[in-house]
Amino acid sequence: MKLHEYQAKEIFARYGIPVARSEIASTPAEAKSAAERLGGKVVVKAQVHAGGRGKAGGVKLVANAAEAESAAAGMLGRNLVTHQTTARGVPVRKVLIAETTPIATELYLAVTVDGDARAPVIMGSRAGGMDIETVAAEHPERIIRVKADPSYGIWPYGARDMARALGFPPKLVREAADLILNLYRVFVDNDCTLAEINPLVITTDGRVVAVDSKLNIEDDALFRHADLKALADPEQQDELQRRAEAAGVKYVKLENGRVGCMVNGAGLAMATMDITEKAGTPPANFLDVGGSANEDRIAEAFKLLVSDADVRAIFVNIFGGILRCDIAARGVVQGARESGSRLHIVALLRGTNAEDGRRILADSGLKVTFLDDLSQAGAAVAATLPAQGARR
Ligand code: GDP
Ligand code: MN
Repeated sequence: MKLHEYQAKEIFARYGIPVARSEIASTPAEAKSAAERLGGKVVVKAQVHAGGRGKAGGVKLVANAAEAESAAAGMLGRNLVTHQTTARGVPVRKVLIAETTPIATELYLAVTVDGDARAPVIMGSRAGGMDIETVAAEHPERIIRVKADPSYGIWPYGARDMARALGFPPKLVREAADLILNLYRVFVDNDCTLAEINPLVITTDGRVVAVDSKLNIEDDALFRHADLKALADPEQQDELQRRAEAAGVKYVKLENGRVGCMVNGAGLAMATMDITEKAGTPPANFLDVGGSANEDRIAEAFKLLVSDADVRAIFVNIFGGILRCDIAARGVVQGARESGSRLHIVALLRGTNAEDGRRILADSGLKVTFLDDLSQAGAAVAATLPAQGARR
């Protein structure tokens, strides 16, 4: 789950991470009065669950409260499109009005989980302010990575070494090291998958300020963070993603695919994607309905698949275990009926109650091609796909 910048800033402040004074506003009038209280010269920042706002017109430095009002009016109620959003963008409902920070240097600092290292890793770079993916791709040597020990984190001397390596001048090393340790505490205490400051700024008058703030929380840990869970803003999420989460299915939309895949189990889902990809009919999604799905969940998953306009055929690959094939088949029939979908279905049902499942699909009146094993899948799926570009 993602937090908004203003929400992350409040958490940063509680952990002693220096942030600019700021107020949140939902209307241009609120933005104006907030700017007046903050001294007029402020930065107006669209609050969306996406980075890259600066280049997309979602961050505006203004000289006075009247300009803050009109900058806010230009952002609020519109969708902001950045390189991290879809072409439709994400709605701006709030703007953060922050005291401007006089910037001398922009750095990058983040804590995330390194799967290979099986540990949290603290990453820093003097090439802050810009897209860190670009820095990582073109100048990996400019990113400093310090592995933390999951049991104790990092020691203060490790944080000081890192601060020096990042180029903090001697009289700011102590402060920067404290900030690194505090960011690490934010990360651990809140079960984050990412705690990021980009840019972390050295001001012209020699202070350190977190100018941007990003926190992503591990969904599976939200049960123990009711306060964080309350900060969710589902409107910022992609519609299909939101429906998938509500239904309890793991769904990832993929670009350029035409086959909607419905599978139980993550491993089988990945194998299914590989097979359709190899057959020259790329999958439109990853979808794992889970081991214990019921009819309604299967039906909702089916409806998710067919509401993706890229999907031209459906491949149902169920290995019946705890999830019985007859239940899966009923769910598919229900989903097809409720969505009115006429898409061709390729079905491979094996395991518990596979015969019943086939019969239910065969009797449903839907267009179904049955397979006996996975080796037939590529050709069968390819055969059901309408010619490229044909309308469904
Ligand atoms: P992002 O583009 O979504 O990551 O938004 P940021 O909060 O990182 O802002 C983008 C850029 O705007 C920063 O890298 C800064 O260069 C600039 N910026 C943001 N706030 C301030 C500020 O208070 N003062 C100055 N001088 N620049 C700012
Ligand atoms: Mn940023």
